[in-house]
Amino acid sequence: MKHTDQVPSVTFFTRMDQEKREKETLAPYAAKSGESLGRVYPESEHEFRTCFQRDRDRIIHSVAFRRLEYKTQVFIYSAGDTYRTRLTHTLEVSQIARTLGRILSANEDLCEANALAHDLGHPPFGHAGERVLNELLLASGGFEHNAQALRIVDCLERRYPLYPGLNLSAETRCGILKQKQGYDGMQKNLCNYLPIEAQIVDITDEISYNSHDLDDGIESGLLKEEDLMRLPLWREACERANERFPEIDRKRKRYQIIIQLINEQVFDVAQETCRRLSNSNNILMNNAVDYSEGMKKKILEAKTFLMDYLYRHPKVLRINSRCKRIITSLFEHYVNNPQQLPLSFQERIEKDGLERSAADYIGGMTDRYAEEDFKQLFGF
Ligand code: MG
Repeated sequence: MKHTDQVPSVTFFTRMDQEKREKETLAPYAAKSGESLGRVYPESEHEFRTCFQRDRDRIIHSVAFRRLEYKTQVFIYSAGDTYRTRLTHTLEVSQIARTLGRILSANEDLCEANALAHDLGHPPFGHAGERVLNELLLASGGFEHNAQALRIVDCLERRYPLYPGLNLSAETRCGILKQKQGYDGMQKNLCNYLPIEAQIVDITDEISYNSHDLDDGIESGLLKEEDLMRLPLWREACERANERFPEIDRKRKRYQIIIQLINEQVFDVAQETCRRLSNSNNILMNNAVDYSEGMKKKILEAKTFLMDYLYRHPKVLRINSRCKRIITSLFEHYVNNPQQLPLSFQERIEKDGLERSAADYIGGMTDRYAEEDFKQLFGF
């Protein structure tokens, strides 16, 4: 660059500037931070960050977010260091959601906040852990990870002096609950439709885990690439990877296939969503974001394949039954010995009940913490 004597004029880009830019540049259906329904406990706005950017930052700094590193996606942490954890999965979802959000001129900050929070409510040991806790809590309202995530950000995180939880905006909280039933009293102060940013995160979660479970499944040896060729979704991506890079080795080819898979799905969803929004008078549709019919069929085949060959693989089921035993034993132990719960959970028993408080404690554990606690209590 040529040096000149001219000094560039530097001015701060404030929150109000950002809100103005959102109004000017985002699509009519996008959530605008300047028009948020606000927080349960009113707060003054930040000078430089919009409300959704603040939500995102509060989520990243939460304890529950840090624990995602040691929570299972499909393979428990002891299976190896290469597989996705909930944290790396969450970061992949965030990246894809921001891409799709930007393509659709939605609010990228809200996409990011929702993506980073979307798995906060998962107990240890993935869906196996969630199923057991739900069975154990059937008489007390059940256990569901979206509802639990909202419970964490609304009351269980303890960081701020003036309110419980993270005091997130209504739009972010709505995207966390995703129109699930929730536990008692949760529906308060939510918006009455599902913001498009929450829909974007929901579908990118699916795009992300379908693609990386195939990847991790092959890496683990439980899935065979030859078997995957029966899936049109995989076969077509493989053909495209072969066309572009006919000479590359097997592992690099696999990464190229995963890239193709994600690209194809994101592009398909972007096109279908545009089509739906262009054909509707209601821009605040709850089902604006979706795959095309053709892609839906291929995704369903991939999901069935993953269910039959990975999630129900004897080795995975064997680990799941151990996880079930750990969670059940911990739950029964703490319900029978509530005085052994940490004080902060004992304090909640009067208001929330013993079962819910024990589930909050166990649900917040990482895989390795639950394993360790189980070993200490039961000696194996
Ligand atoms: Mg997820």
